Amino acid sequence: MNYYSTNKKAPSVSLREAVLNGLAQDGGLYMPERISQMPSDFFVRLPSLSFQEIAYEVGRVLFAGDLPDSTLDEICRESFDFPVPLKRVDASTHALELFHGPTLAFKDFAARFMARLMGYYVRHDDRELTILVATSGDTGSAAAHGFLNVPGIRVFILYPSGRVSDLQEKQLTTMGGNITALEVQGSFDDCQALAKQAFVDPDLKKKMRMGSANSINIARLFPQTFYYWWAVEQMGKRGQAQILHSQKLSQTPTEPDPIIVSVPSGNVGNLTAGLIAKQMGLPIGRFIAACNENNVIPEYLKTGIFTPKPSRATISNAMDVGNPSNFVRMQELYGHSADAMRHDLSAHSFTDDQTRAAMRDVYNDTGYILDPHGAVGYCALKEYQKQYPETYGIILETAHPAKFKDVVEDTIGSPVDIPKRLAEYMMREKQAVLLPARFGALKEFLISS
Ligand SMILES: *Cc1c(COP(=O)(O)O)cnc(C)c1O
Repeated sequence: MNYYSTNKKAPSVSLREAVLNGLAQDGGLYMPERISQMPSDFFVRLPSLSFQEIAYEVGRVLFAGDLPDSTLDEICRESFDFPVPLKRVDASTHALELFHGPTLAFKDFAARFMARLMGYYVRHDDRELTILVATSGDTGSAAAHGFLNVPGIRVFILYPSGRVSDLQEKQLTTMGGNITALEVQGSFDDCQALAKQAFVDPDLKKKMRMGSANSINIARLFPQTFYYWWAVEQMGKRGQAQILHSQKLSQTPTEPDPIIVSVPSGNVGNLTAGLIAKQMGLPIGRFIAACNENNVIPEYLKTGIFTPKPSRATISNAMDVGNPSNFVRMQELYGHSADAMRHDLSAHSFTDDQTRAAMRDVYNDTGYILDPHGAVGYCALKEYQKQYPETYGIILETAHPAKFKDVVEDTIGSPVDIPKRLAEYMMREKQAVLLPARFGALKEFLISS
């Protein structure tokens, strides 16, 4: 199957090219030409499948035969070797905890899968693949972890000196192996500009094969569809979704699926993946885009007009996005019709005060600790359930509360335990190469290393 560019001015390419290019030549994002339904026997077997098996089966349909089965199976087993628990929060809410991977955020799912898929594609090449990642913190550590020890690939992480948290810096600079941290004496924008310039520099292009691991790579989108199936299956096991299995078995749905999923959203990659899963037959009644004060998606659903805005800083900072990069993919899925999108999606926006109130209330009422991103998801779910109280909700918990320790502790007034693997980073020795924010310096370093 081929992948087309959302700008429609570059030719369609194979999966391999889409993964290695990242972005299409015309600046568009790659989309699959076809999204197939899961076969009906999959629904029968779903309750007996592990997470890795679900990933493999859904991946087989998504990748449509472009990857050998044994390769896909191996990538799924290696990428998803951590638990994905569904926890009860209250009588009408469960949280799907996506933060049990190595960097304690859901971006591990995408980064680990993409790294291994790229590794597969360059395995038999004689030239190493050089990946540059500019990061303001979290994306870099997920990428660094994802690529660690993948043969045939070396990674350079550019991060702004003095502008990431201590913990983030430790996560970026203590990997070793094929990962090198470059501490740039400048801002995140400088880091991004340096990486962009490197990708188009003729000398570097001649000397090395460069690859991009940016967030719009199609290889990051697909693995994010897997956990939605897992969530539905876990709900079924708890008796919350029996109707749903019997409906699928009889193939004659009589009423809409009562389960809805609230997705804390920024660049809307996670949400887009959920909507793709829905097109594949995922029995979810509706998705909710949960946004902080960066409300471009809620505004679009309200007005039908997409208006990017400068981003605003909030306590759920991984969602501080004013021009969501994956939005164009959502539009492609719904034929650029806001009405069609409204059929599957609602969207709500919340202030930091509302987010904090949700964290406090949920903690006081149930003992469950939400991180600020999951708390926005909770607010959006409750907003929807005010109107549709008979629904049953899943919120995606995208980060471990300990990653936002200060905000969380300050809000709930109780200490948050730091998981062991996070504490271990703080003990390690930082190793970074200090670079001025000049392209010449980066180029010289890349050529000599
Ligand atoms: C990246 C991120 C998000 C937003 O995900 P998108 O796919 O960009 O919408 C939400 N929560 C956390 C913790 C994140 O790191």
